[in-house]
Amino acid sequence: MSRVMCYKCNRPQQLCWCGKVVPMATRTKFVILMHPYEHRQIKLNTGRLTHFCLADSELYVGERFDEHVAVQALIADPQNYPVLLYPGEGAWDLSKGELRAGDFEGRRLVVFLLDGTWRQVRPMLRFSESLQRLPRVMFSGAAPSRYVIKRQPEAGCLSTLEATHELLLALERSGLDEYTIPEQMLEIFMEMQAFQVRCEEENRRPDFVPRKDQEKVAGRLNPSKRRRVF
Ligand SMILES: [Zn+2]
Repeated sequence: MSRVMCYKCNRPQQLCWCGKVVPMATRTKFVILMHPYEHRQIKLNTGRLTHFCLADSELYVGERFDEHVAVQALIADPQNYPVLLYPGEGAWDLSKGELRAGDFEGRRLVVFLLDGTWRQVRPMLRFSESLQRLPRVMFSGAAPSRYVIKRQPEAGCLSTLEATHELLLALERSGLDEYTIPEQMLEIFMEMQAFQVRCEEENRRPDFVPRKDQEKVAGRLNPSKRRRVF
Protein backbone atom coordinates (compact mmCIF):
# COMPACT_ATOMS: atom_id res chain seq x y z
CA MET A 1 0.00 0.00 0.00
CA SER A 2 1.25 3.46 -0.85
CA ARG A 3 2.36 5.42 2.18
CA VAL A 4 2.02 8.75 0.46
CA MET A 5 -0.46 10.74 2.50
CA CYS A 6 -3.07 13.11 1.13
CA TYR A 7 -2.45 16.43 2.87
CA LYS A 8 -6.11 17.43 2.62
CA CYS A 9 -7.96 14.49 4.20
CA ASN A 10 -4.92 13.19 6.09
CA ARG A 11 -5.30 9.67 4.73
CA PRO A 12 -3.06 7.38 2.65
CA GLN A 13 -3.50 8.34 -0.99
CA GLN A 14 -5.13 5.00 -1.85
CA LEU A 15 -7.82 5.64 0.76
CA CYS A 16 -8.18 9.34 -0.01
CA TRP A 17 -11.72 10.73 0.14
CA CYS A 18 -11.05 13.91 -1.84
CA GLY A 19 -12.95 13.86 -5.10
CA LYS A 20 -15.42 11.30 -3.69
CA VAL A 21 -17.02 13.49 -1.08
CA VAL A 22 -19.20 16.54 -1.64
CA PRO A 23 -19.17 18.51 1.64
CA MET A 24 -22.86 18.98 2.36
CA ALA A 25 -24.24 22.31 3.58
CA THR A 26 -26.46 22.23 6.68
CA ARG A 27 -28.19 24.79 8.87
CA THR A 28 -26.86 22.97 11.93
CA LYS A 29 -23.22 23.16 12.92
CA PHE A 30 -21.61 19.87 13.98
CA VAL A 31 -18.67 19.77 16.37
CA ILE A 32 -16.93 16.41 16.60
CA LEU A 33 -14.92 15.94 19.78
CA MET A 34 -12.64 13.02 19.07
CA HIS A 35 -10.94 10.87 21.67
CA PRO A 36 -7.16 10.70 21.04
CA TYR A 37 -7.32 6.89 20.57
CA GLU A 38 -9.93 7.29 17.85
CA HIS A 39 -7.70 9.90 16.22
CA ARG A 40 -4.96 7.30 15.69
CA GLN A 41 -7.34 5.12 13.67
CA ILE A 42 -6.70 5.99 10.05
CA LYS A 43 -8.59 3.31 8.16
CA LEU A 44 -11.85 3.23 10.05
CA ASN A 45 -12.06 6.67 11.52
CA THR A 46 -15.71 7.55 10.97
CA GLY A 47 -15.51 10.82 12.93
CA ARG A 48 -13.05 12.22 10.43
CA LEU A 49 -15.19 11.00 7.52
CA THR A 50 -18.23 12.67 9.07
CA HIS A 51 -16.29 15.92 9.38
CA PHE A 52 -15.28 15.62 5.75
CA CYS A 53 -18.89 15.09 4.59
CA LEU A 54 -20.32 18.10 6.43
CA ALA A 55 -19.34 21.57 5.25
CA ASP A 56 -20.24 23.24 8.54
CA SER A 57 -18.42 20.96 10.96
CA GLU A 58 -15.39 21.23 13.19
CA LEU A 59 -13.26 18.46 14.64
CA TYR A 60 -11.15 18.65 17.79
CA VAL A 61 -9.10 15.91 19.42
CA GLY A 62 -8.88 15.67 23.19
CA GLU A 63 -10.24 14.24 26.42
CA ARG A 64 -10.97 17.43 28.37
CA PHE A 65 -12.65 20.43 26.79
CA ASP A 66 -13.33 22.87 29.64
CA GLU A 67 -10.17 24.80 28.74
CA HIS A 68 -10.46 24.31 24.97
CA VAL A 69 -10.61 27.79 23.46
CA ALA A 70 -12.53 26.99 20.24
CA VAL A 71 -15.03 24.68 21.98
CA GLN A 72 -15.66 27.19 24.77
CA ALA A 73 -16.11 30.01 22.24
CA LEU A 74 -18.77 27.95 20.41
CA ILE A 75 -20.60 27.24 23.68
CA ALA A 76 -20.44 30.88 24.83
CA ASP A 77 -21.45 32.45 21.49
CA PRO A 78 -24.91 34.02 22.02
CA GLN A 79 -25.75 33.30 18.36
CA ASN A 80 -25.47 29.56 19.04
CA TYR A 81 -27.81 27.05 20.62
CA PRO A 82 -25.38 24.33 21.74
CA VAL A 83 -26.57 20.80 22.53
CA LEU A 84 -24.85 17.48 23.13
CA LEU A 85 -25.86 14.33 21.29
CA TYR A 86 -26.07 11.91 24.20
CA PRO A 87 -28.97 9.54 24.72
CA GLY A 88 -30.54 8.94 28.09
CA GLU A 89 -33.02 10.31 30.55
CA GLY A 90 -33.74 14.00 30.09
CA ALA A 91 -32.45 14.09 26.50
CA TRP A 92 -34.82 15.64 23.96
CA ASP A 93 -35.80 13.05 21.41
CA LEU A 94 -35.54 14.73 18.01
CA SER A 95 -37.40 11.85 16.36
CA LYS A 96 -40.41 12.70 18.53
CA GLY A 97 -40.22 16.41 17.74
CA GLU A 98 -39.18 17.32 21.29
CA LEU A 99 -37.07 20.21 19.98
CA ARG A 100 -38.59 22.84 17.71
CA ALA A 101 -37.14 25.76 15.76
CA GLY A 102 -39.05 28.15 18.06
CA ASP A 103 -36.93 26.92 20.99
CA PHE A 104 -33.79 28.38 19.39
CA GLU A 105 -35.09 31.98 19.23
CA GLY A 106 -33.19 32.60 15.99
CA ARG A 107 -29.97 31.02 17.19
CA ARG A 108 -28.07 28.38 15.26
CA LEU A 109 -28.25 24.79 16.48
CA VAL A 110 -24.75 23.52 17.31
CA VAL A 111 -24.55 19.78 17.99
CA PHE A 112 -21.54 18.45 19.88
CA LEU A 113 -20.74 14.79 19.16
CA LEU A 114 -18.38 12.70 21.28
CA ASP A 115 -16.39 10.41 19.00
CA GLY A 116 -15.02 7.25 20.59
CA THR A 117 -16.18 4.02 22.19
CA TRP A 118 -18.47 4.29 25.21
CA ARG A 119 -15.50 3.54 27.43
CA GLN A 120 -13.67 6.53 25.98
CA VAL A 121 -16.64 8.85 25.76
CA ARG A 122 -17.88 8.54 29.37
CA PRO A 123 -14.69 9.99 30.94
CA MET A 124 -14.60 12.72 28.25
CA LEU A 125 -17.94 13.88 29.58
CA ARG A 126 -16.94 13.41 33.22
CA PHE A 127 -13.84 15.57 32.73
CA SER A 128 -15.70 18.37 30.90
CA GLU A 129 -18.28 20.10 33.08
CA SER A 130 -19.10 22.58 30.34
CA LEU A 131 -20.27 19.67 28.16
CA GLN A 132 -22.21 18.11 31.04
CA ARG A 133 -24.20 21.33 31.38
CA LEU A 134 -25.36 21.32 27.75
CA PRO A 135 -28.92 20.26 26.99
CA ARG A 136 -28.92 16.76 25.51
CA VAL A 137 -30.53 15.52 22.35
CA MET A 138 -31.06 12.03 21.01
CA PHE A 139 -32.98 10.20 18.29
CA SER A 140 -34.95 6.97 18.38
CA GLY A 141 -35.90 4.21 15.98
CA ALA A 142 -32.51 4.24 14.22
CA ALA A 143 -31.47 1.55 11.75
CA PRO A 144 -29.14 -1.08 13.23
CA SER A 145 -25.42 -0.42 12.85
CA ARG A 146 -23.93 -1.18 9.45
CA TYR A 147 -20.55 -1.67 11.03
CA VAL A 148 -19.24 -5.01 9.78
CA ILE A 149 -15.67 -4.72 10.99
CA LYS A 150 -15.47 -3.08 14.39
CA ARG A 151 -17.97 -4.78 16.65
CA GLN A 152 -19.78 -2.25 18.78
CA PRO A 153 -19.51 -3.13 22.49
CA GLU A 154 -23.19 -2.56 23.25
CA ALA A 155 -26.28 -3.39 21.26
CA GLY A 156 -27.77 -0.37 19.53
CA CYS A 157 -24.42 1.43 19.34
CA LEU A 158 -23.76 3.27 16.14
CA SER A 159 -20.56 4.64 14.68
CA THR A 160 -20.22 8.43 14.79
CA LEU A 161 -20.98 8.56 11.08
CA GLU A 162 -24.18 6.52 11.41
CA ALA A 163 -25.25 8.52 14.46
CA THR A 164 -24.81 11.75 12.48
CA HIS A 165 -26.79 10.27 9.59
CA GLU A 166 -29.67 9.33 11.92
CA LEU A 167 -29.46 12.72 13.61
CA LEU A 168 -29.75 14.47 10.23
CA LEU A 169 -32.77 12.33 9.33
CA ALA A 170 -34.40 13.30 12.62
CA LEU A 171 -33.51 16.99 12.16
CA GLU A 172 -35.07 16.95 8.71
CA ARG A 173 -38.22 15.19 9.93
CA SER A 174 -38.69 17.82 12.63
CA GLY A 175 -38.12 20.65 10.13
CA LEU A 176 -34.90 21.83 11.77
CA ASP A 177 -32.60 21.10 8.83
CA GLU A 178 -32.48 19.76 5.30
CA TYR A 179 -30.62 16.54 4.61
CA THR A 180 -29.81 17.01 0.94
CA ILE A 181 -27.44 14.06 0.26
CA PRO A 182 -28.63 11.31 2.61
CA GLU A 183 -26.97 8.48 0.69
CA GLN A 184 -23.45 9.94 0.58
CA MET A 185 -22.20 9.23 4.09
CA LEU A 186 -23.47 5.65 4.19
CA GLU A 187 -22.15 4.82 0.72
CA ILE A 188 -18.66 6.00 1.56
CA PHE A 189 -18.86 4.23 4.90
CA MET A 190 -19.75 0.93 3.21
CA GLU A 191 -17.07 1.45 0.58
CA MET A 192 -14.49 2.15 3.27
CA GLN A 193 -15.40 -1.07 5.06
CA ALA A 194 -15.40 -3.12 1.85
CA PHE A 195 -11.90 -1.83 1.05
CA GLN A 196 -10.73 -2.76 4.54
CA VAL A 197 -12.20 -6.27 4.24
CA ARG A 198 -10.40 -6.71 0.88
CA CYS A 199 -7.09 -5.62 2.44
CA GLU A 200 -7.52 -8.06 5.31
CA GLU A 201 -8.35 -10.89 2.91
CA GLU A 202 -5.25 -10.13 0.86
CA ASN A 203 -3.15 -10.15 4.02
CA ARG A 204 -4.43 -13.63 4.81
CA ARG A 205 -3.47 -15.07 1.40
CA PRO A 206 -0.72 -17.71 1.78
CA ASP A 207 1.54 -16.02 -0.81
CA PHE A 208 1.27 -12.62 0.88
CA VAL A 209 4.61 -11.08 1.90
CA PRO A 210 4.29 -8.10 4.27
CA ARG A 211 5.81 -4.90 2.96
CA LYS A 212 8.67 -4.77 5.45
CA ASP A 213 9.64 -8.35 4.54
CA GLN A 214 9.46 -7.46 0.85
CA GLU A 215 11.96 -4.70 1.58
CA LYS A 216 14.16 -7.13 3.47
CA VAL A 217 14.15 -9.54 0.55
CA ALA A 218 14.87 -6.70 -1.89
CA GLY A 219 17.73 -5.55 0.38
CA ARG A 220 19.26 -9.01 0.39
CA LEU A 221 19.11 -9.20 -3.39
CA ASN A 222 20.33 -5.69 -3.93
CA PRO A 223 22.78 -4.53 -1.21
CA SER A 224 22.61 -0.89 -2.38
CA LYS A 225 19.05 -0.76 -1.02
CA ARG A 226 20.37 -1.31 2.47
CA ARG A 227 22.73 1.62 2.34
CA ARG A 228 21.56 4.92 3.66
CA VAL A 229 22.43 7.95 1.58
CA PHE A 230 22.84 11.15 3.56
ZN1 LIG B 1 -7.58 13.30 0.29
